[in-house]
Amino acid sequence: MGVTAIVGANWGDEGKGKITDYLAGRSDFVVRFQGGKNAGHTIINDYGKFALHLLPSGVFFQNVTNILATAMAVDVEAFLNERQELLSRGVPDPRILISERAQMVLPYHILFDEYEEERLADRKFGSTKSGIAPFYADKYMKIGVQAADLFDEQRLLGRLSTALEPKNVLLEHLYGKSPIDPAELVPVLMKHGEAIRPFLADTGAILHEALKEGKTVLMEGQLGALRDPDHGIYPYPTSSSTLAGFASVGAGIAPHAIDTVIAVTKAYSSCVGAGPFVTEIFGDEAEELRRRGGSGGEYGATTGRPRRMGWFDTVATRYGCRVQGATEAALTLLDVLGYRDEIPVCTAYEIDGGKTNEFPVPARLDQSRPVLETLKGWKSDITAVRTFSDLPREAQAYVRFIEERIDVPVKWISVGPGRENKNRMG
Ligand code: GDP
Repeated sequence: MGVTAIVGANWGDEGKGKITDYLAGRSDFVVRFQGGKNAGHTIINDYGKFALHLLPSGVFFQNVTNILATAMAVDVEAFLNERQELLSRGVPDPRILISERAQMVLPYHILFDEYEEERLADRKFGSTKSGIAPFYADKYMKIGVQAADLFDEQRLLGRLSTALEPKNVLLEHLYGKSPIDPAELVPVLMKHGEAIRPFLADTGAILHEALKEGKTVLMEGQLGALRDPDHGIYPYPTSSSTLAGFASVGAGIAPHAIDTVIAVTKAYSSCVGAGPFVTEIFGDEAEELRRRGGSGGEYGATTGRPRRMGWFDTVATRYGCRVQGATEAALTLLDVLGYRDEIPVCTAYEIDGGKTNEFPVPARLDQSRPVLETLKGWKSDITAVRTFSDLPREAQAYVRFIEERIDVPVKWISVGPGRENKNRMG
């Protein structure tokens, strides 16, 4: 009963999709409350292996209503393609609703994302070039376009003309590209409107009623706590809040409706894109962990980029769990470490000769060095283990060691990418 938020405690790619997929089957609604197609959840189930970008992870269940909520960045073409791919691979037509107040990623958001990364060259942010930063910038500049705007030609032309006036100056004089004619965009966007019309709804009202009826709702976070624009590793966050606290805002429900917050964290660290990453490892050691990690290696679900690898960071994760307001944690990918004789874990940061286990402000992260403690590995395949007590003693000790330092009970452990590879502690 009630509302559960599943969110990342780290830099993203923690395996939230797998945990959501597991819990979605028992839910009435699965809701994406922020972000767009810039991140991906990998889900492996009876239909195959899927990388979901915009669609909520409940799309594989017929009993679930999947909601793309108001604070999402909706890219219509990407949405239609992703849905079509599911259908063409034999997934039954999922129930999907899009908030009529959600704003649209427009073709020029993607262009500006590309041009700006190009201009920044070696200072670039490592954007996925999905238009997300220009999209949210426009939203807060109040020049964005809501789904419901796509059905009124004059209103749409007015919105686009206002938005494009300064953008065309930048296009021509900063980026050296051709300007965009708003009148040419209108028919394209109105066509998008028609394509998503069957999915549009007042999703806030629907969720409000559902909660009154005692329905079960899962809020699905994208990326992780350290990518939050306020509490993360600024200036390397994503452009919308990744925190459970924002889920109620993004979906339009009461903040007190969320009663469970599951912070997902992986048994080692990985990070895509630029920014400080204190426990990062390099060379052969990193390559081996990357190759053995995830399902088929640690490569971005959206971009295919190799992920940066590191040891588990209790400093960053305790902070991540705190800002998420985690009531419990899920530790994923424990199986991956089965090849190690010894496993380093970061328990503190050394900054300017001092030691701390408080996650510092971004300005101090570059000077932070990890203090590592080494735990014994279990040197075995644990993918078939289903209860905590059946895990090798060393694996149990590893989980307990982490649990003590992140201040949140580890309620879930994942030991493989498939639906069946999970166990619950206790
Ligand atoms: P998300 O965005 O947080 O859902 O994470 P991703 O899907 O980007 O990355 C997680 C990767 O790990 C995916 O390839 C999953 O299939 C895989 N995965 C999730 N849990 C486990 C696990 O317990 N063990 C293994 N080996 N792979 C896992």
